[in-house]
Amino acid sequence: MSQPAVRKERLEYNKLQKRLRRQVGSAIADYNMIEEGDRIMVCLSGGKDSYGMLDILMSLQKTAPIRFELIAVNMDQKQPGFPEHILPEYLEQVGVPYHIIERDTYSIVKDVIPEGKTTCGLCSRLRRGTLYSFANEIGATKIALGHHRDDIIETLFLNMFYGGKLKAMPPKLLADDKRNVLIRPLAYCKEQDLADFADYKAFPIIPCNLCGSQENLQRQVIKQMLTDWERQYPGRTETIFSAIRNVAPSQLADTALFDFAGLKVDPDAVADAGDEAQAEAGVQQFIPALQVS
Ligand code: SF4
Repeated sequence: MSQPAVRKERLEYNKLQKRLRRQVGSAIADYNMIEEGDRIMVCLSGGKDSYGMLDILMSLQKTAPIRFELIAVNMDQKQPGFPEHILPEYLEQVGVPYHIIERDTYSIVKDVIPEGKTTCGLCSRLRRGTLYSFANEIGATKIALGHHRDDIIETLFLNMFYGGKLKAMPPKLLADDKRNVLIRPLAYCKEQDLADFADYKAFPIIPCNLCGSQENLQRQVIKQMLTDWERQYPGRTETIFSAIRNVAPSQLADTALFDFAGLKVDPDAVADAGDEAQAEAGVQQFIPALQVS
């Protein structure tokens, strides 16, 4: 590569890194994701997003005004061909404390789910359960997950189209077990930025199809819909994400979120309107006189 091309690439990388750091910093601040003394269990799948999350959190940790710990955790689910050495080597190299949990959920899933049926539901439930218990074992105060803005938007449409619910994936959540707080520091980051960042950093990505399962078909459909929209109407994805952050319950129809039954006119507003009407009538009376003079 020529010198100017190297310089240009370097510049692009710096811009991208700054943008990701800024977005992660904003999400952390907006949702109070990290507090003084937190011990954060960073879940690593070996995919581009979780590598990016760990990298950015480690760089923010160096300059943050508060102290917090990061512990990387990967779960080896014993999928055939899982390259066991990759993550430990990487984590040693970047110098972060880590644990690899070994649980053969692959065999359980294969035993329980009939051939040809999607295995992701049970597999993720088993993984989630193991990770949550492990977080308690190591005294983690938060669990960081690598979902990004596009995952959140896809989930919104999946729930809307297939579940009849207006809900997505929150940047911060108290888990159902009420013992774990989940955070999603990449909530403001675009998937494409994370993919570019992973390329620049040459993260040793572990392929995610080792289990032989296809990515959820419905999610693929939504992904394609969003890609088409974005091509046709650039900026639409960002607008949808803004909408998730600007909800007006009184303009929807959920009786649990807004007290539609109790809606009543405001007597003060009625009285004010009466005064205004009287004043207006007074002005109208003078208009002919003003026109004559
Ligand atoms: S793709 Fe494979 S490893 Fe991932 S959730 Fe589905 S079954 Fe589990």
